[in-house]
Amino acid sequence: MKTILITGASRGIGAATARLAAERGFSVAVNYNKRKEEAEKVVEAIKQKGGHAKAFQADVSKEGDVLRLFEEVDTEFGSLTTLVNNAGILEKQYLLENITSQRWQRIFEANTLSVFLCCREAIKRISPKYGGSGGTIVNVSSIASRTGAPFEYIDYAASKGAVDSLTIGLSRELADENIRVNAVRPAFIHTDIHASGGEPNRIERIKEAIPLKRGGLSSEVAEAILWLATEQSSYSTGIFIDVSGGR
Ligand code: NAP
Repeated sequence: MKTILITGASRGIGAATARLAAERGFSVAVNYNKRKEEAEKVVEAIKQKGGHAKAFQADVSKEGDVLRLFEEVDTEFGSLTTLVNNAGILEKQYLLENITSQRWQRIFEANTLSVFLCCREAIKRISPKYGGSGGTIVNVSSIASRTGAPFEYIDYAASKGAVDSLTIGLSRELADENIRVNAVRPAFIHTDIHASGGEPNRIERIKEAIPLKRGGLSSEVAEAILWLATEQSSYSTGIFIDVSGGR
């Protein structure tokens, strides 16, 4: 059976991806950081439909936690085939001149260092070089990587820009090892992340400027992630799917 680890799957896009992955036949490792109860609900929903899932606590911005997470997933599920780097944060909308170096560091640790650490540990399970049989990595970036998120959160945009570069580089490094690395770049998705930016109704404010004139659903992003995670996308590596209503 294929096994997928999804970081930040206690809610939002990660939770929707976990549910869809289970429907597509994956055993699902549901990572969370703080929201244990919500992660357990995701696991329960999967089990009720006959799927296989387990919740794993780890702060993926911390190296020690990531090493422990992968060991726990090894013990529970055996060989990993797929990694979705979805965990991410943003902070209050600020001009760059007001961003502290501590905040910049927090954002980069949560959004970028985490992706590097999880990719490195996944390679050691998935690559034939280490006894694996190949697989896929999907990174959840953001269209902020190309818009830069001016007047809102340039730190967040820059952290996602780094994820895009990592995706391109790693896709080429791993192409010979039967590992494909791709990314999804969402925007304006109805989740609780916008409240962290200090504006829970952000999508309402800007929806007229979105060509499709609405926000997106986590399930719509999950479809793109699962396409990249499975054999359906077998001839694609190093690509980006923008799920952003036309922006
Ligand atoms: P969300 O609803 O706020 O959920 C974020 C998830 O990430 C939660 O499950 C949270 O876990 C987890 N997380 C955060 N920091 C973590 C850490 N250090 N270690 C482990 N888990 C951590 O966000 P979302 O909107 O679904 O966003 C998911 C991804 O999509 C993010 O990478 C985000 O940047 C990207 N994205 C979202 C949008 C959008 O419009 N929503 C647009 C572009 C990109 P706990 O709750 O357990 O702490």
